[in-house]
Amino acid sequence: MSKVFVLDTQKQPLNPVHPGRARMLLSSGKAAVFKRYPFTLILKGRGEQPQVAPLRIKIDPGSKTTGIAIVNDTSGEVVFAAELSHRGQEIKKRLERRRGVRRSRRQRHTRYRKPRFENRHNKQRGWIAPSLESRVCNVVTWVQRLMRVCPIVAMSQELVKFDMQAMEQAEIKGIEYQQGTLQGYETREYLLEKWNRMCAYCSAKDIPLQIEHIHPRAKGGSDRLSNVTLACEACNSKKGTQDVRAFLATKPDVLRRILAQAQAPLKDAAAVNTTRWALYERLKALGIPLECGTGGRTKYNRVTRGIEKAHWCDAACVGASTPEHLHLSGVVPLLITADGHGSRQMCLMDKHGFPRTGPKQAKHVQGFQTGDMVCAIVTRGTKIGTYVGRVAVRATGSFNITTKQGTIQGISHRYCTALHTCDGYSYGQGEPLHPSPEKECLFPPPVLPDRGRKEAEV
Ligand SMILES: [Zn+2]
Repeated sequence: MSKVFVLDTQKQPLNPVHPGRARMLLSSGKAAVFKRYPFTLILKGRGEQPQVAPLRIKIDPGSKTTGIAIVNDTSGEVVFAAELSHRGQEIKKRLERRRGVRRSRRQRHTRYRKPRFENRHNKQRGWIAPSLESRVCNVVTWVQRLMRVCPIVAMSQELVKFDMQAMEQAEIKGIEYQQGTLQGYETREYLLEKWNRMCAYCSAKDIPLQIEHIHPRAKGGSDRLSNVTLACEACNSKKGTQDVRAFLATKPDVLRRILAQAQAPLKDAAAVNTTRWALYERLKALGIPLECGTGGRTKYNRVTRGIEKAHWCDAACVGASTPEHLHLSGVVPLLITADGHGSRQMCLMDKHGFPRTGPKQAKHVQGFQTGDMVCAIVTRGTKIGTYVGRVAVRATGSFNITTKQGTIQGISHRYCTALHTCDGYSYGQGEPLHPSPEKECLFPPPVLPDRGRKEAEV
């Protein structure tokens, strides 16, 4: 069950409480709502001060979505879960548009401008592209926000896809890929990465892949990683116990590619990812013990505990510290979408780069700004009703409110009450896990169920 965060009168985090207890605190007047997202209460007086139970925040960074979970290591309870959607693509698009406008301006016949030299910043060490920077900043922002409302004493982050050291002289034993040991999962991640998550023979993607011996074991082929590849079921059964040279006799270029790729060990660089390392450095700077996990271990933890695939479930399974029993039932993940803080462009332009609108109006109108969550209770006129949603302010004081049902135009600011000030993110409720009465088989058969992760990791 997702819990509700509680602060004491000094705004220090206390143990999160059950929603029922939160309702009781609110209705008895002992607490007030401090914040909507994440939902946080503040106590009005000094009540009993129970021992604060330490919690661990766990992060599974992704390129589009990052999973976040707060877990109680001793009880295995998931206290809070969230899925944070980044805006990397949006940033890239905006930068490209700006570049286009500037380029066209330079090529027009305009008045002479003196060349300006050395007007570029030198890229500092640790610089990463703006779209990647925003992903790192999103995660750090949310870790800090949660640390302010929840007693967090430890962090776990998925840092790499598989354990490079464990791969050094890896040799897969039959048992490892049939019974799903931790080593087996690291190996799978390694192979997926090495063979670009596709069938080596027909390049099919997004289908279950099987581990395939290039030189068949029936003919004395070894279990070393340099002798295995990934194949779809059709190719695997078609090849059977043939030698790869016989199987690919008609496709010499495919044969050459496979033989070369099999011999080349995966470079460190392919497994190491700058964004995740940048995130690691920033999280470490927060001064809380930080544990690192691998993608192989996350998958192993998730599958052995019979948990479905979701970003927040993956986050709860990151690292060696994952409790034996994770209690995920009833947890509703908070869906957080990064929306940015608007644009800095002074006015909109037409396709030739000329101003199309007047200069920007004031950002705040009657104490509201675009993006605030408001509740409007309209008591007169044709629009009588209650509307809750995101407001778009107009200088006239007549706002538009985007609710779940649609946009309502022309609501006076007089009817609006702010629920949550615009903070660069929008929010929604995710789906809880489907209750699964019977646990599925703990260990998957020797196929690689990799349909889940279509998006590339950051
Ligand atoms: Zn195939």
